[in-house]
This record gives sequence, C-alpha cells and structure tokens, in this order.
Amino acid sequence: MSALALKTGSVNLGQGFPDGPGPELLRNVAMAAIHEGDNQYPPGIGVPELLEAVAAHQQSEYGLIYDPGTEVLATAGATEAVASALLGLCEPGDEVIMLEPSYDSYGAVVAMAGAVRVPVRLSYNGQRWVLPPGAIGAAVTARSRLLLLNSPHNPTGKVLDEAELEEVADTCRRHDLIAVTDEVYEHLVFDGRRHVPLATLEGMRERTVLISSAGKSFSVTGWKVGWACAPPALLAGVRAAKQFLTYVTPAPMQRAAAAGLRATHQLVGPLVEELEANRDLLAKGLESVGLPVRSAEGTYFLIVDMSGFTDLDAATFCRQLPELCGVVAVPCSVFYADPAAGSHLVRFAFCKSRATIEEAVDRLARLSAWRQR
Ligand SMILES: *Cc1c(COP(=O)(O)O)cnc(C)c1O
Repeated sequence: MSALALKTGSVNLGQGFPDGPGPELLRNVAMAAIHEGDNQYPPGIGVPELLEAVAAHQQSEYGLIYDPGTEVLATAGATEAVASALLGLCEPGDEVIMLEPSYDSYGAVVAMAGAVRVPVRLSYNGQRWVLPPGAIGAAVTARSRLLLLNSPHNPTGKVLDEAELEEVADTCRRHDLIAVTDEVYEHLVFDGRRHVPLATLEGMRERTVLISSAGKSFSVTGWKVGWACAPPALLAGVRAAKQFLTYVTPAPMQRAAAAGLRATHQLVGPLVEELEANRDLLAKGLESVGLPVRSAEGTYFLIVDMSGFTDLDAATFCRQLPELCGVVAVPCSVFYADPAAGSHLVRFAFCKSRATIEEAVDRLARLSAWRQR
C-alpha cells in the first residue's frame, strides 16, 4: 500500500509511520554516538545505558522492578522481541492464543516456531471494541503454551480495560500459560486513559515477557530498537533465539533510545496531544462522508466499517481508493486468519502531521459524490 501511495501521489494513511524527521534529541545522540566511534558489536544483551534506562522506566511508570543486568534484553525492535519469545519459548505443536484482528507478524512467527495460532476475536458493541467475556478461557486446550497479548491494540486502537486484563491474567494463572505482551503503544493512549501492563497484575510478573520499543513512543519507527523484560529463566529462552537472529542491536541507536526513555514525558506528552487531535479530525472527516468510525482509545489507528457504505470488499475498496480520492488505507482482511472476517473493515493511520491529515480529509470528501452516483 505504501508503494501504491508513492506511485499514485496519494496521502498515505496506510502504513503506520509518522511523516516527521523524529525528535532532535534522539537524532543528536545517535549521530554523536556514531561520530564518537561506537560502531562495533555491543554486548549481546544490550548496551548497559539502554538496559538501565528500560529498567528505570518500568519502575517509574508502572512500579515494575527488573534487574538491568539479568532481566532486560535489547532487541531489533519489538518485532524481533516477539519473534524471539515465540521461537525461544514454544515447542512445535504448542498453541499460541492471540487477539484477532492481529498484527501481521504474529501469524508468521507462530508458523516459524512450528506452533499453532489460536485467534480470539474482538468484537464491536456499537460503542467500543470488546473482548467477549469467557472467550479467552474458552480458547485454552491441553496444548496451550503461550498467550500473546497486544494492548493498546493494532489495528483496532482498543485499550484493554481492567476487567478484560484481569480475565486474561486469570486464564494465564489458572492454566500456567506464559504471557508475551506487545506494548509498543504503551504511551499512545487517549482521553486521559492509562496503560496497565499485564505484568503488574497479581502473579503475572513471574510468567510474563513484557515487550516494547522506541519506534512508536519516540516517532522513530525506522530504528528498530526494542526490549524484552522478564525473569531470568524466561528471558534466557528469548535471548537464545535473539542470539541467532540478529546477535546484537545497533549500538548508536540503543544509546539514542536510552536518551528517549530518560526524556519520556517531555517527548510523549506533545505527541499524544497531536495524535488525539489528528484522530478527532480524521474521524470527523470520515463520518462526514458517511463512513462510520469505530472508537480508537489509543495507538496510531482507527477502523471504519464499510458495510453500509459500499458493496465492495475492503481489499477492492482500498485498491480503488487512490483513484477515487488520492488516499491510501489498509484493508483489515490482512489482520484475520480468515480474511473474510475483516472484509468490511478498513484501517486508517493518523500518526501523520496535522497538514497531512487535513489534506487527507479534503480528499476523502470526494467520496460523498462517488457514493451518491
Ligand atoms: C509497529 C508495531 C510493532 C513494531 O515494532 P518495532 O519496534 O518497529 O519492531 C510491533 N507490534 C505492533 C503491534 C506494532 O503496531
């Protein structure tokens, strides 16, 4: 879709990456580190400065204590952390429970691990996305090994509430499951919400691999600096896999990510305000052409339900959208094991500059004329 946006000169609300240059603070630290010659293999577990910054962040944000020497691992983005956790902690045939729709790398890494994906569908109740009560527990079998949780959630923008988190935790404790939590949008929550890591719930720290990264929090999605936090026995499995995937993560970027973590509030506050305003502007624009928007409580994304708007399925509609109005979006069919389940849903990214969102809204207005034909 990004290639299509380039080719057609469309506004790219498809792939989730900001259109700015990234914070000056991070760029300066990375450039200085390169210039000073920090350009050889760093320690396999990560640069101490980053490991310490991650541990300090988890403690000050969430009261979670991790030993930076033995319980934090630097990775090539959250993507590698998730892949390493699944490759290192699953045996062939193990079942991995995950929310659906799900981030597109999850199905692929479950397959690489020889494991089996067990999707649990989120539903929309007219007001918000919900995890249907009992659905997680009902997905457990004798082969269940691991629960892969993503909250705040891509592509829906859902943030799991307290009751939903408690149900997930209860299922993990009751059936002795490992939890792997992808929390890359931990800071990008709206309307005064607060993100709650699953690891903070009773009995969960000891069975959870907590994953996040610099990309989304600090608007540097191209850097691929992430981290995993877990008790030593669990982290050993993640580290064993990471060692033979990338071995290490680039040192200059680790140092810059550490600087970002130390300045979290300074960087994240204005970003959240901007994203929230973008979300509202885009939602208003979509609603005004007759596209019903589903509530987004966090992340970079919101989802639109096309079913009453056009008979085209989401994939066909998204392929035509550049020609119809010069905007690119992503069909949600790609986020479901059975593509038909997402064939009426389209995801729009609002992690762009205000000017880009304004331009997109102007262009989307052309859809009302198209619809009336
Ligand atoms: C963007 C995204 C990632 C990728 O994170 P990296 O640090 O760039 O690897 C992982 N998980 C989800 C849910 C995402 O949306």
